[in-house]
Amino acid sequence: MTVMNVRRLIPTTALAGAVALGVVSLSACSATSDAADKGNDGKLDVVASFYPMQYLAEQIGGGHVAVNTLTRPGVEPHDLELKPKQIGELGEADVVLYLKGIQPAVDDAIAQAGVKHTVDAATLTELEEHGTGVGHDHGGEEAHEGEAGADPHVWLDPVKYAEVARGVGSALEKADPGHAADYRKNTEALVKKLGDLDTAFETGLKNTATKTFITTHSAFGYLAERYGLDQEGISGMDPESEPSPARIKELQDIAAKDKVSTVFFETLASDKTAKTLAGDAGLGTDVLDPLEGITGQSRGDDYIEVMQSNLAALKKALGAR
Ligand SMILES: [Zn+2]
Repeated sequence: MTVMNVRRLIPTTALAGAVALGVVSLSACSATSDAADKGNDGKLDVVASFYPMQYLAEQIGGGHVAVNTLTRPGVEPHDLELKPKQIGELGEADVVLYLKGIQPAVDDAIAQAGVKHTVDAATLTELEEHGTGVGHDHGGEEAHEGEAGADPHVWLDPVKYAEVARGVGSALEKADPGHAADYRKNTEALVKKLGDLDTAFETGLKNTATKTFITTHSAFGYLAERYGLDQEGISGMDPESEPSPARIKELQDIAAKDKVSTVFFETLASDKTAKTLAGDAGLGTDVLDPLEGITGQSRGDDYIEVMQSNLAALKKALGAR
């Protein structure tokens, strides 16, 4: 920010007395004073990388933020490509909220364009590595069994998502201190909703006939760990990767041994492999939504609603009592 910008924010009559104030806000520089300076009716200009980040920004930011999401509804976010205009928006945002490790195009743009004011959700909670039974294939040929790499799908655990929500709340407070009280209140309300969701999963999945679920896209490692389930992924972390014939055979054996009833697929990626596997093994299919985007096909209008649908689907598939 330049000195010119600071001057423009201060009414001329107050200028003499406010110079010291201007210096303070300069040295404590954040997106703060820029916020009132931009379009968006003085709203904090937030760029969210994909839906789980957008939901946090909207819920916590409420009426004080204008949220722009890089991944359009219906686009599979792992493979997102950015247009030059979007990279420009990253540079101009008051806050860029993203999750390092899930969208290489976003990570690269932030690193290469030297984007400031970023909030990396991956730093707001502890990420873990999850075995999925298959290599962590991120779209390359180098998918190796057990190859390290933290699982980025952290929002599918309501407890960890609440930790991220608290971090995002703090970041918005810092970026826009004038509305800190509202951000704090909204964060508490969201954390409460996520707590209720956690309780619903905990009780709903306590007593089930089986703990194993098969799903196309290995997005549910955190959820499985939180509620004592076993996720068996057909493809890896990347929903577009194809399983090997050996993996298919293995899944058929697991399905028989663990009394699996259902093969889950998702709405944003191909369901072909899931349906073939289910057909061959005489299993049903259902949707388990990794919430990487909300579309007209989503079973719910927002994070909480879709997660409740996921819980209902899991209870049915696992034979909850
Ligand atoms: Zn994913």
